[in-house]
Amino acid sequence: MNILVINCGSSSLKYQLIDMKTEEALATGLVERIGIEGSILTQKANGEKYIVEEAMKDHQDAIKLVLAALVDKDHGVIKSMDEIEAVGHRVVHGGEKYAASVVIDEDVMKQLEECAKLAPLHNPPNIIGINACKALMPNTPMVGVFDTAFHQTMPEKAYLYALPYELYKDHHIRKYGFHGTSHKYVSMKAAEAMGKDIKELKIVNCHLGNGASVSAVKNGESVDTSMGFTPLQGLVMGTRTGDMDPAVVTYLIKELGYSASEVDDILNKKSGVLGVSGVSSDFRDVEDAAWNKKEHRSNIALDMFVYRVKQYIGSYAAIMGGVDAIVFTAGVGENSVEMRESILEGFDFLGVDFDKDKNKVRGKFAEITKEGSKVKAFVIPTNEELMIAKDTLALV
Ligand code: AMP
Repeated sequence: MNILVINCGSSSLKYQLIDMKTEEALATGLVERIGIEGSILTQKANGEKYIVEEAMKDHQDAIKLVLAALVDKDHGVIKSMDEIEAVGHRVVHGGEKYAASVVIDEDVMKQLEECAKLAPLHNPPNIIGINACKALMPNTPMVGVFDTAFHQTMPEKAYLYALPYELYKDHHIRKYGFHGTSHKYVSMKAAEAMGKDIKELKIVNCHLGNGASVSAVKNGESVDTSMGFTPLQGLVMGTRTGDMDPAVVTYLIKELGYSASEVDDILNKKSGVLGVSGVSSDFRDVEDAAWNKKEHRSNIALDMFVYRVKQYIGSYAAIMGGVDAIVFTAGVGENSVEMRESILEGFDFLGVDFDKDKNKVRGKFAEITKEGSKVKAFVIPTNEELMIAKDTLALV
């Protein structure tokens, strides 16, 4: 039984065809430059790369080529589209309506359009992708899996901003949180690794990638997370500021003459590790500049990143009344030995008995605390696609 997982961006599309018996991806692919000159599809399957360079004017064209690549006589992995049981779509924003994945019908499509207001950059391409798939596979069930859903269990005191209440009631301005599929997946894996019921655990997940967020998962439910109304809140990220005094925004507009969209651009695309270091948003480049070239701004950018992650771990331990496990995932969390070491340094007061040697791993599961450590720490590679496929299978 195979599930196709689709993750649509504005001009790109990632996909995986997953065999649910083995939970392995039969094929993974990326389509880039949809609607732009130079459209290209790259599929990896059976240890080989298959590249299709063909004009794609829209997402429907792109999905047509994805399906053709999957059933291709020489490079494909299935004989016909009938071998695709269902399609799972990653949808960024489910608003307050969706606390779980859902089979997509007309009603759901209407709700998704509503939520698009809350995520104008992300939801519209997700909707376009769903419509394109529906047009090409009218009889295949489709499921929406939301980045926000896992965090819908947060209590009011965590998700409300201390703004006039009407802004929440009338305009839905509140913390939603993102990366939910990843936070859910790695907390389940952590519980599994500890041989314990997730309902008895307090876990802090650090999803540290280009976009980054920390979540507090108590008894299997998200009780707080660092991203907010949008993915801008929280940690220092590749190009995003994360937390700061909101008065900076009005100062930039009123005193320095920036427009609202210029401020948006500064906070989302020109800040974070890139903005402080002036080098790159890629942690590998910034680490190189900091440690090998001894550049102060890169050093301070990494220090700020680590400092903020530490603050969140500490505060989430406080609100949960302790912590049993700290999990690192995503690009930086899975691969940067040094960042993990810096983040966990000094957490012995909490009961973390860090193991420097066990921490020397990249991109694979590892327990990085010593045997008997009161608080365990893990590296757990995230697999949002598998989580989406599992939810999809469960619903169809
Ligand atoms: P993601 O958004 O999860 O794909 O993560 C992307 C980020 O992971 C980029 O900033 C990369 O620099 C970072 N990353 C990937 N590999 C490494 C590594 N070996 N050391 C440090 N950062 C890494």
